[in-house]
Amino acid sequence: MIEKIKQKALAGEGISREEILFVLSCSDRESLKEIFSAAYAVKLREVGRKVHLRGLVEISNICTKNCFYCGIRRGNSAVSRYALSQEEILECARLTQKFEYGSLVLQAGERCDAAFVDFIEDTLRKIKALPGFELGITLSLGEQSLETYKRWFAAGAHRYLLRIETSSEKLYRELHPADHLLSERKACLDRLRDAGYMVGTGVMSGLPGQTLESLADDIEFFRRQKVDMIGMGPYITHHATPLGEKYPDYPSDLSLGLKMIAATRLALRNVNIASTTALQTLAPDGREQGLLAGANVIMPNVGDLVHRKDYLLYENKPGTDENAADTRKNLERAIAAIGEEIEYNTWGDPTFFSAGKESRQRKGM
Ligand code: SAM
Ligand code: SF4
Repeated sequence: MIEKIKQKALAGEGISREEILFVLSCSDRESLKEIFSAAYAVKLREVGRKVHLRGLVEISNICTKNCFYCGIRRGNSAVSRYALSQEEILECARLTQKFEYGSLVLQAGERCDAAFVDFIEDTLRKIKALPGFELGITLSLGEQSLETYKRWFAAGAHRYLLRIETSSEKLYRELHPADHLLSERKACLDRLRDAGYMVGTGVMSGLPGQTLESLADDIEFFRRQKVDMIGMGPYITHHATPLGEKYPDYPSDLSLGLKMIAATRLALRNVNIASTTALQTLAPDGREQGLLAGANVIMPNVGDLVHRKDYLLYENKPGTDENAADTRKNLERAIAAIGEEIEYNTWGDPTFFSAGKESRQRKGM
């Protein structure tokens, strides 16, 4: 099976569901090494020896939803809630320009009220109007109406990240209250495409009750949806959540997270795949391991340290005491150490999507 996977990687062919399952269930060290290097070879061919960065700003931990796994869910009364002011967000955007990351992600708990929608729209316009390099903007602000997605797109956002968390209806129901619907989450992905965004999605891996078949289905879902970006990470327990209370000692699985990246790269080839903070939580070099398994995007935090400890989706989240400038230095060193290079001042869109955007990306360089 490994030889077949390697051949397909060389030939630029996507692997089958059976091969995806083989990758996900592989536990032999030597075989895993071969699988990761095949996925890395595909990444090299599709995006080169480059890593794209997106400055991450966690703009607010106020959330109207109550996902059973998430530390900032509405029901967690121990969380001290915050929302950055517009000036604070603009300061993060300026820092992203200064660091030459080229691209910005605004992430928050979910709110759909008119004041929030207006605030984001106005903030987007102001970020786009900043002098200097025109930042690419990704939003990760949950489920919204088509009208809201359109307004935010018109104001300057061009990518949107909305994980479906799992493609299994049964598992989704076990992880969420009855009024959180997978069908709505999927409908949002369609809305985002209709509104013109590059669409990113993803799942958590290693969830209680999740099977390898279900994870293979997730990758097949990404393939069918023709998504442009994938952000996946291992599930990590937060004890002040219903899932954390039910499974307090549930082990997180770094290796499965890496296998998901490799299998997704081998199946989908030319997509942006993020090496996420959750990987770094499980090993100091987890994000580098993610890059060597086929990922090509890292989202370093550019937010102020003051609020980092209030945006704990899970426990032991790293980087809560490392300021944005140190993060940049450490990241540069870590990426150079694995022979990769950061591509600064680019939006870092996959080639199949960025055709025609080149002139916009270069504006202000
Ligand atoms: N509220 C928006 C949403 O849910 O799409 C964006 C922010 S939310 C905190 C971003 C992602 O964090 C979720 O999609 C989920 O996959 C991840 N997350 C939440 N709790 C987690 C946990 N305990 N372990 C790993 N990832 C988690
Ligand atoms: Fe809110 Fe997102 Fe956390 Fe769910 S995952 S509780 S929507 S912040």
